[in-house]
Parts: sequence; C-alpha cells; structure tokens
Amino acid sequence: MKLFSWLAGITLLCGMPLSAFDLTAGKTLPVIVLPEKAEPSTVLAAKELSEYVKKVSGKTLSVVQGKSDAEKQIVLGTLDTVKEAPPALLKKLRDGKKNEAFVIAAKGGRLYILGKKRVAELYGTYQFLEDKLGVRWLKPATPSDSGEFIPANENISFPDFELYREPWFTRRKLDQCGSYWNVIPKNSIAWAVRNGFQAPPPYGSRPDKNKEFAEFFLPRTPDEVLSGGGGHTTFSKAVPAELFKTHPEYFSLLDGKRTLFDGGHQCYQYCISHPEVQQRLADYILSQIEKYGSDKAGYLFGMADTSVGWCECAECRKLDRSDKYNYLNVTNRFHTVVQKIAGKVYEKRPDARLYVWAYHTYREIPKDVKIDPRMEVQYCIHGRCYGHKLDDPECPRNAKQYSLLKDWLKLSPTIYTYEYFTCTPPLYVPHERTQAHDLKLYKKLGIIGYKEEASFPDSKLIGNNQEQRKEIFPSCWQWLYVTGKLLWDPDLNVDEVLADAESKYYGAAYPAMKKYHDLRRKLWENGANDMGYPTGDQRSATLLNTPGSKEALLGYLAEAEKLAGSDKILLHRIGLDKTWLEKYWIKPNEVFKSKFGNAFRAPRANGPVVIDGDGKDPAWAGAFYTDAFKETFTDAHADIPAPLKTTVGILSDDRNLYFLITALEPQPGKLKAAAEKDGPVWGEDGMELFLYPPTAANTYYQIAVNTKGTVFDAICPGSNAKYDLGAEVKTKVLDDRYVMELKVPATKIGPFERGALWRIHFARNRKIKDEGFAGNYSIDGAGYHDTIAYRALEIGSPYLRNGSFDDVKDGKALFWTTDKNAEFIRKGNGYAAYFKNGGSCYQLLTDPALWQSKTPRKISVSLKASGAKTLNLNFLRYSDTPDPKAKHGYTRKFLPTVKVAEFPLEKEPKIFTAEYTIAPDEWAGLLLQSYFEFTLDDVSVKLIK
Ligand SMILES: [Zn+2]
Ligand SMILES: [Zn+2]
Repeated sequence: MKLFSWLAGITLLCGMPLSAFDLTAGKTLPVIVLPEKAEPSTVLAAKELSEYVKKVSGKTLSVVQGKSDAEKQIVLGTLDTVKEAPPALLKKLRDGKKNEAFVIAAKGGRLYILGKKRVAELYGTYQFLEDKLGVRWLKPATPSDSGEFIPANENISFPDFELYREPWFTRRKLDQCGSYWNVIPKNSIAWAVRNGFQAPPPYGSRPDKNKEFAEFFLPRTPDEVLSGGGGHTTFSKAVPAELFKTHPEYFSLLDGKRTLFDGGHQCYQYCISHPEVQQRLADYILSQIEKYGSDKAGYLFGMADTSVGWCECAECRKLDRSDKYNYLNVTNRFHTVVQKIAGKVYEKRPDARLYVWAYHTYREIPKDVKIDPRMEVQYCIHGRCYGHKLDDPECPRNAKQYSLLKDWLKLSPTIYTYEYFTCTPPLYVPHERTQAHDLKLYKKLGIIGYKEEASFPDSKLIGNNQEQRKEIFPSCWQWLYVTGKLLWDPDLNVDEVLADAESKYYGAAYPAMKKYHDLRRKLWENGANDMGYPTGDQRSATLLNTPGSKEALLGYLAEAEKLAGSDKILLHRIGLDKTWLEKYWIKPNEVFKSKFGNAFRAPRANGPVVIDGDGKDPAWAGAFYTDAFKETFTDAHADIPAPLKTTVGILSDDRNLYFLITALEPQPGKLKAAAEKDGPVWGEDGMELFLYPPTAANTYYQIAVNTKGTVFDAICPGSNAKYDLGAEVKTKVLDDRYVMELKVPATKIGPFERGALWRIHFARNRKIKDEGFAGNYSIDGAGYHDTIAYRALEIGSPYLRNGSFDDVKDGKALFWTTDKNAEFIRKGNGYAAYFKNGGSCYQLLTDPALWQSKTPRKISVSLKASGAKTLNLNFLRYSDTPDPKAKHGYTRKFLPTVKVAEFPLEKEPKIFTAEYTIAPDEWAGLLLQSYFEFTLDDVSVKLIK
C-alpha cells in the first residue's frame, strides 16, 4: 500500500503533535494494518474496531493486510504474527503469565493492540473501545433494543498512552447449556466475549469441522478452552456400546450380570477397574491430541450423569476402599482410575491438557489419591446457596461447601468452580454484590476461575420453562455484566462498575432507577432465605414483606418514567423492570402471603442492629413484619384506621429480640409523654409489648414505651414494676409518625435459641381524642393480658413445623399427622390439639439439621399440655440404606419405637420437657400419645449443641 505515502509525508511536515493520537480528529484517518498471516481473531478485531469507530464518529477506517506505508497506523496482531512493534511492548507480552494478556499503546502516530496468543488482541480491542471511545455492551441485544451505549464523537483523539492487562482468572467460561448444540446463539456469545468472558462452542463439538462454527467460534475462542471431549461422555467414544457384544466385561456388573446400563444420553456405566477400559481411554485421548494438537484438545474426565449403575465387580469394589457399598460415594474408585489413565497420557504427552470433575458422587475428598498437579479440577459447587456469601458461616449449605472446597485446594493447586447459579434458576435476582464478594474470595483462595452454565436467550432451548429460562440473562444483566469485568479484575469496586453501567443504560431516568435498584439490592441482600440449586429460589417471594417496599419500588419506576419523557428505548427498559418486578417479586409475594399462617417469627438478624430510633440498619430488610392491629375494646374489633396504620418488625440474634415499630400519627404535636421510668407509661401515647416465654410458672413480661422512649417494664401476672428487664429503647417522632426501636435481652427471661416457641402480643395506646378513632388497638384485637390469645413466636426457623397448632386448614393442623378424632380447638386466636378420648399426634423431623446422618444429635422437646392422666413422648425411627436397585435409590428399615417420657398431666396446662438423642444413620419422628383426654399446644424442638 503506497497510495497515501505522499500525503502522510505532508502531514509529518505540518508538525503533527506526537503526544496525541488522532483516531478520527485529524485530516487523514489511520489505516488498520493486519499481519500477513493474521489470525481469524485479528481479522474480527479489525472488523469490530472499524464498526464501532464508525458508530461513534461516522467515519470509516480502512483495513489492509501485510505492509503499509500509511503515516498513521493501527497495528493489530499477536506475538506470533506481528513482525514490527516496539521491542518493549513485545517483551511485556512475552513476560505475561496469561495467554490472554494484551498491550495497547499509542506512540508516535502508531496505535498498537497486541495480544500474547490469538483472541487476546480481540479482548484488547474491546478494552480500547470501552476506554477511549466510551462504548459499553450492557445487555445482550434484542430486536427492540441494542443494549449498547454509543456516545457520539466525531473527533476521537487521545494522548499517547500504554496499557498492559491480563485476566486475573484463567477460566471465565459461559458454557452453552440446555439447548441444541447446532444452533449458535450469536448475539449472546458476541456480547459475552465483548465483556471478557470465554464462550466456547458446546462441549465436545469441534468448531473446525463445520464452516459456520469455524467462522463464528474460532475468532472468539482461545485455544485453552477448546475441548477435545469428555465430561459425561468420557468413556463413550473410547469404549463404544457396540463393544458390549464382544466385550461385555468392559461394562458394569450389576446383580451378577454384565449390563449395558445407560446413564442418560447414551452415556454408559463401565467396569472402570478393567485395564483394557483404562488403556482404551488413554489411547483415545492421545489420538485426539495427535489430531488437533495438545493446545486445542483438552480432555475432561467425568462419568455418565447418574448416581446408579456403578460396577459391582470385586476389582471395582476393591477401589472403593470400604466394606460397605455406597454408590453415592464412589470418589475413591473414580479418582484412583482417573489418575492412572492420566498418568498413561502424560507419559506419552507431558504437554496434554487434562481436567477432572469433582462432581456429584465423586466430590468427597478421595483417600490416598494424589491429583497430578498438571491437571485442573473442575469443582462442581452443586448445593451451594447464592443467597448468602460463600464464606457466610450462618448459612449451613455454604459452610459445608466452603470447607469441602478448601479441602480440595489442599489436594490440587489448580481448581476452578462449576457454578449452579443459573440453573437455580435466578429470575430478576440482584446477585452482583454477593458475586463480587465471592470472586474476591476466590482470588484469596487461589482458585483459577469460574464456569457458569449459560442459558442464552437466543439459543434453541430444550425442555421445560423455555419462556422463563429466556429471561434469566436479560433480567439479571447487571450481574452478568459485572461478573465479566470482575473475572478480569476481582478488585474492581462493584458499586462503581454498576453506577457506570446503570447510568448509561437508564440515561435521564437514572436518578430514579438508582433509588430503585439500591432498594432492590438492600432487600435482596438482607433477605434471610436460601437461593440455589436444587431447592430453588426461596428468597425472592419474601422480599416485599418489608412494609412499604412494594409501594416505594413502584413509585421509583413511575418517577423514572417521567424522567424518561418520550425516549422510547428508556421507556422500554423501565417497562422491562416493571414487568419483572411484577412477575418475579410482586406476584410470588402475594402467593407467599396468602399461604402464610398465624405464627409470628423472629428471623436471625443479618448484621448489626443499632438502637437509634431510625430503623435504617440493612438487617431490618430481613425482618418479619405484622400490621394485624384491630380495635381492642369495641365489639366490632374493626381494623385499625389507615391514618393510624401500625407496623411491628421482629428480629433476633443469639441473645436478644429486636422490635421496630412504625406508628402513623396524624397529630404528632399532641402526643402525651410525661411519665417517668416505671410510672404510668401505659396511660400515655405509645406501645405495649407482652413477651411470654415457655416457662413453668406461666410468667410473662410487659413493656410499655411512650413516644419519648420512657419505659415501664414489669413481670406478670400482677404487673410488678420492681422487675427490670433492661430493654434498650430509642424513639423518634416525625411529621406523620413515630418510630420505636427496641432491644430486649431475651435470654434473661426464657429459653431462647433456634427452635424455641414463645407467645407474643403488641398493643398501641392512643390518648389523642379524634372523632371515630377508638384509642386502643392490639394484635387481633385481643385483650392485653389475655395470654391464651397471644400469637406464637417462632425463634429463628423452627426445627418442628407448626408446633403451635395455629396453622389449621380444613380442620387439620398443617404438617402433623393426627388421629381422626383429633379436634383443633380455638384457644384465643390460636388453636390447640384436643383429644376427647385420647389419641396421637405425629411429625417426622425433616429439618436438614436433623436428617439421617453419621453423627448423633441431642435434641430437647418442650410442650404445654393438660389432661386426665399421662401423655407419652415416643420416637419412631427408621434407617435408609443406599440401594441402586431400589425404586427411590434406597431401602428403608423400620426400627423399634423408643419411649422417652411419660408426662403426668393435670387440669391446668403445664410445660414439660425431655431430651432425646437421634442415633447415627436414623430418621426420627416425634409421636405424642395418650389413651385419655388431653390438650396439647406449643410443641418445640431444639438442637442441643
Ligand atoms: Zn468392575
Ligand atoms: Zn444460604
């Protein structure tokens, strides 16, 4: 190319400033110069670069291959292909640790975008477009919205600079899943690569075999994520099913017979101890490496996606290193064999790229097995909870996963995770901040990367819920976007990345949408429930329990619509948020509330609660709330009038109960609050609380608080004010309400740990005289000291469900199995179980902490009962043993019932307690039984640690 050389000469004479690079601001445009033997990724980089320069500036850059004499050049390429570049830049790349390292530099009329290996220069080009042109790829494109942010700038120019980058995590994979492999979701994959992900072709497919695949995937896929096969099909190609006729000994021995056991998708179960099976697989992997090269044919060791059908031959069983057959834990067998085969491969090809799964039935730490340090372990973090941070010790699911993962890191230095977030599935879940925390943790632990199953909306999905699955990525776009960025640099400030992305996405409507997403994230991050495969999302449906949250979110959306004016794209984007809020938060919350029973709960606070009368601590977003106030002393017991709406939030920690009271008040100037501590506070404007722990003396406690925060506390019955409970209280009176925040040291007055069952009551006293307002309001309109009418209060999440018998439907107590003659009698606003001629109540202990397990667990049972003679506390027991041939995968053996206690009943209800130890390998069910009349209430189970 000599055409412009004379022109370039003139420009030089004019004295072009060497300290800046005029991309489109100068008289001449630079030429994009590709190497003679340009990689497909370099060609794509040039195409993307000129396309986006045109979108931003309206000007078109030309592209030449080979040599160019143009004065201004953009040099694209890799270490292998670029011939002329400043030696210092090339050295930086050579010294780079990661193949995807790139360097961008503007110097002396040249702009270099160079990658260490192919595709790195493409990542560099996207970085350049973001940094210097301000382009963003925010949400994968749809027909009505490109999802891009393109600032207009006719004259792009920037001072000389140099930037070197390499990704922190080597593995940053979005693997196409649950869809037909031969339809390429081009939009989504292009988006993913632009944001730094690796989005390789579907597992085991060779892109070089098919023209369309080659054209699309090769420019975008680094060598190291190209697969040579394996996974569920690990043995299928090396030991095909046809061999069953001539070599049945290669396949599983089941019930004494060699069987072609299909574990799904024509992946079979093999006799993996057989030397020929091992040799065949080693030979197959070596043949793949021969064919494609070791850098382009990594192999992943796994097994068919099934827990059953494992070979029972003596040689395979020997590898299990256990006398007791447990097909749910074949980790020793699997990893021993894999290491043996890997050893054979490495012997011939030390450069082989091999991976192994720690998955499902082979995820426990194998005994006496060394994982070859050259192998990468793909740790399937199946079962973790994404509602909580991975290192949150309060989330039992994550505590288990975190500790197992750390044990694996001792066994292998190169581990990356196989995530299950998208298969939960997440719908409109603001997971970004938790994700940021976890990736920082991954960095600290030395984990080398991350792989997530990708449900690309433009792929051809297989199976159920397709419409919903198509909304996973679009409705969680912020999570996906920041994850791409954080995988390159986990130290980024996630809030800054979000502010940058959302301000560009929502434009003029951002101020309102910022408030909207801030509140959504606050509600999500302080929710108490778990979220993650296989139990699903148990959190989203509860988030709008926080009073006023739904109204606030809808209010921000309305404000955003106003700010958007007539901008169609913005209105479309705000409309999507509105649709998702409706579909995935509001509707599920309505269903949740309609099923909700009578019992109140005191969830564990997810963070500190400062008693300042503000109620602003994030932990309050995870509280239980009630507003069930009614007139107390009228016949109608009408609902509290809307102008006086009163809400109580409840939380707990190891020692305390916390209450947040918000009482609307139209005339705050007239509030009466003059009493002194333990004076007649209950005769003023304010609130009363009644706490009734399960105590033998049937003692309960009264706390009255006026709007200045003055407290009257007393032990009841009798309201003896000499007793001091030591509650901490702060109040605030605002223009339209008063707010009270209380901390009550609960351990002081009763058994207070997870599983305990208390009774509780709240009342509001109003002394201001208004026409039509009653003056006294309480929960259900129940009398202040009518203890049998108090609602149940479950501390933490209960180990036994509906122990208060307050949740009764169609004459049956939920979660209990009772005799036909059981009656559920109304006792105040709750229920108790009543048996006129004796009978029994049964409930299996189904809390995960009490499931059949290897360790014994001591529990204590507490209940309240009255009756004619005695009540027996028994435990029904059974044991499940894994059995691959049984219908549900196990056989059940029933064990003799144990009688734990015989409680002497009286006419007046009394509290009884007893202890029992759940033996190892047993399930336990609690059975309460008597042959004579009895009344039973408030049964609770606690775990003794
Ligand atoms: Zn075998
Ligand atoms: Zn959790």
